[in-house]
Amino acid sequence: MTVAPITQDVLTIPRKLPDGPRNLVGLTREGLRDALVSVGTPEKQAKMRVNQIWQWIYQWGARDFSQMTNLAKPYRALLAEHFVIALPEVVSRQISDDGTRKYLVRIAGGHEVEVVYIPETDRGTLCVSSQVGCTLTCSFCHTGTQKLVRNLTAGEIVGQIMLARDDLDEWPEPGKGTGDNGPRRLSNIVLMGMGEPLYNFDNVRDAMKIAMDGDGISLSRRRITLSTSGVVPEIARCAEEIGCLMAVSFHATTDEVRNKLVPINKRWNIETLLAELRDYPRLSNSERITFEYVMLKDVNDSDEDARRLIKLIQGIPAKINLIPFNEWPGAPYQRSDWSRIKKFADIIYKAGYASPIRTPRGEDIMAACGQLKSATERARKSRAAIAAETAQG
Ligand code: SAH
Ligand code: SF4
Repeated sequence: MTVAPITQDVLTIPRKLPDGPRNLVGLTREGLRDALVSVGTPEKQAKMRVNQIWQWIYQWGARDFSQMTNLAKPYRALLAEHFVIALPEVVSRQISDDGTRKYLVRIAGGHEVEVVYIPETDRGTLCVSSQVGCTLTCSFCHTGTQKLVRNLTAGEIVGQIMLARDDLDEWPEPGKGTGDNGPRRLSNIVLMGMGEPLYNFDNVRDAMKIAMDGDGISLSRRRITLSTSGVVPEIARCAEEIGCLMAVSFHATTDEVRNKLVPINKRWNIETLLAELRDYPRLSNSERITFEYVMLKDVNDSDEDARRLIKLIQGIPAKINLIPFNEWPGAPYQRSDWSRIKKFADIIYKAGYASPIRTPRGEDIMAACGQLKSATERARKSRAAIAAETAQG
């Protein structure tokens, strides 16, 4: 019997484009070229115009065609007539005691997503969302209590990076290069906000290509990490078409427990997932896979779990990122005790793996991993409903 693959219950339904000018943010270079040609840009000039406009938008953060001084005035007017350079709207910004910033962002249709900026001494990481809600229902994740509302467009994904750069005031002066402002405040991207990025593959890919483009935001592919719950058929594509680093929400060492914590495990179990990761192209010690492991008291945090984990991932260049569970109101789990987390980390470290414990950041503003949820889309699904679903498996 063939089992139908799990797909999203709400696919990307082509939405009716709003009437009025078209937004250029999020178009691929080819898409931008086609858009420019469609309003009368001569084919011969199109490539050069793409380069110029691309640079204005993604290198210097221009939002107005009148700023684009290397384009003739009538051409700027033509662009302004047909196009806009628009980002999602920042509804609110909260700053934590530890400097973490959480933005609540409104996208078309009135939906809201959260974006988190985490400053550290040697870097600044932006945690980007890929969907409003999530189709998956990981039982420890706040986003998992919210149904998928829709996929974000490429423009809405790259727009999160751009609005954070606005807030951090780090666009270089026109004419200057991206590195000319000194060390970057926003130096890394993690696709660890709301949603499962591999269920919105094309838009995530297009957005990350813009983020990596050397004539624009210009972030190295090695400074971008995509986290997946384990959508096995899309993992190789991620390596081939995006080429960023990969993190996997592993969280358990037996199928029985993983089925409950990360229900996608019922479709692609631990063995299938690990087989796919072993084949992940480019894997080397410098480009290891990050295994994320949330520490849940008395659920997945025993010494035995630590030892099983080491055995399972044997042969895969890996680093294990231990995430102390971030509690949220009504969560059915507790964070493991600190001493337990340390012991767990120690066993893994002694086996030769890096085992950093992720410092919880921005907890006072509910900005930590797995706590994101939009204010307007409050729980559609009760805990009881999720428990009933996981019990069936
Ligand atoms: N959907 C993707 C990416 C978003 S979640 C995924 O599941 O990988 C980013 C990370 O935070 C994942 O490892 C996720 O399992 C973890 N996470 C979710 N809820 C959490 C919580 N309450 N505390 C700690 N980590 C959590
Ligand atoms: Fe979705 Fe990731 Fe949360 Fe699971 S952990 S519900 S895949 S956002």
